[in-house]
Amino acid sequence: MLILWDIDQTLIDLAVADRRMWSEICASLLDVAPQPIDPEPGCTIRSILHQGLLRHGASDAQAACLLPEALAAEVSWLSDRDRLRRKGRLIDGAEQALREMAHTPGVIQTVLTGNQRDSARLKLDAFGLSDYLSLEFGAYGSDSDHRAALVGIARERVSERYGSGEAEVAVLVGDSVRDVMAARESATPIIAVSSGKTSPSELRTAGADAVLRTLNDHDGFRAALSLVGRRPARSTRSGDLARPDRPGRDEESPASFNA
Ligand SMILES: [Mg+2]
Repeated sequence: MLILWDIDQTLIDLAVADRRMWSEICASLLDVAPQPIDPEPGCTIRSILHQGLLRHGASDAQAACLLPEALAAEVSWLSDRDRLRRKGRLIDGAEQALREMAHTPGVIQTVLTGNQRDSARLKLDAFGLSDYLSLEFGAYGSDSDHRAALVGIARERVSERYGSGEAEVAVLVGDSVRDVMAARESATPIIAVSSGKTSPSELRTAGADAVLRTLNDHDGFRAALSLVGRRPARSTRSGDLARPDRPGRDEESPASFNA
């Protein structure tokens, strides 16, 4: 089984620092005062910085021209490990879940993230998570701006190394509606965790196969994995999308399944 982990708000919380960093980078490149940037959860980095540059007064062409410099500035900012550890935190239960899966036979785990590759590694290194993941198979915001396309990229990387059987059963883990939409579009099951800004009911309504309040729910995570990890690839016909939510399920149970 291939587990594809989102990073931000699923494993690590650097949200405030990220937003401030992007704002400072864009302002500095355009020599203007920083403006707040607050992208929707799950956006990819090139889109975030392009929009950030526009927000700071760049024309579309100027933003495209400055984007490589902005991306490089982000990697440079994230290279300060002490700063990352001061400004960020591990999401509850994330390290334990990664550790457990790293020791589970038959599991390959890596990341599927809107971060560029170097930034993803710097964030994961800072919080001691890289060793649990096979980052060479990951798919990154530097591979594509389209999150759903990243699923195929990660599967292909695993298949090239181990053969297609290893990537046949894949599961995403993420915190945002964009993660869920990427899963739906790529016909891949997803375990959604409401450790970011998105509520359990929003994640369920978007079509998540299983929703957990926290990765500290280790029994719930294992149960979700065993349920969705058995499923064959799904059709993405519109009729198969978001199933109706049962009222009050948020209160009923910490973990819920759209079975
Ligand atoms: Mg996220």
